[in-house]
Amino acid sequence: MVFGKALSICRNGERIRPFHFNSRTAIKILQMRGFECINTQPHQPSANDRQNEREYEGQKRLQKHYVRERNRTLTKRKKEMFKLKHGYLFCELCGLEPIQAYGKIGESCIEVHHKTPLSSLEGTRETTLDDLQCLCANCHRIEHAIIRDTKS
Ligand SMILES: [Zn+2]
Ligand SMILES: [Zn+2]
Repeated sequence: MVFGKALSICRNGERIRPFHFNSRTAIKILQMRGFECINTQPHQPSANDRQNEREYEGQKRLQKHYVRERNRTLTKRKKEMFKLKHGYLFCELCGLEPIQAYGKIGESCIEVHHKTPLSSLEGTRETTLDDLQCLCANCHRIEHAIIRDTKS
């Protein structure tokens, strides 16, 4: 109604018809008469704005499972025993051999996973090498997604 009134004033009291409410027409008429039109819609970021969006990162966050899982001695030993047994590291789920593609540095793609997630337990427990699995980073992530999924 305010909009209609303003439009009517702009058009010297002329009756305002629905077609005037085409927002472009209405805004044009108002602006021609020196009114300032402010868009009260929340600002929709353009694709370009989105490109430049930034968030703070790097703050310390508690990652319970991974922190608990990483008993470095066990992880190291699991990888060593695995290499002794099979000659090299590969993913026990998908068979990926990152060493083939990346050489020695590819070993960092193989992570050690607890078959029984530690987060499902209270406190600590004794873990044997058989409780552990060598997984590539992708399979490891999927395994944890499955664990999370079955929990919810
Ligand atoms: Zn894998
Ligand atoms: Zn894991």
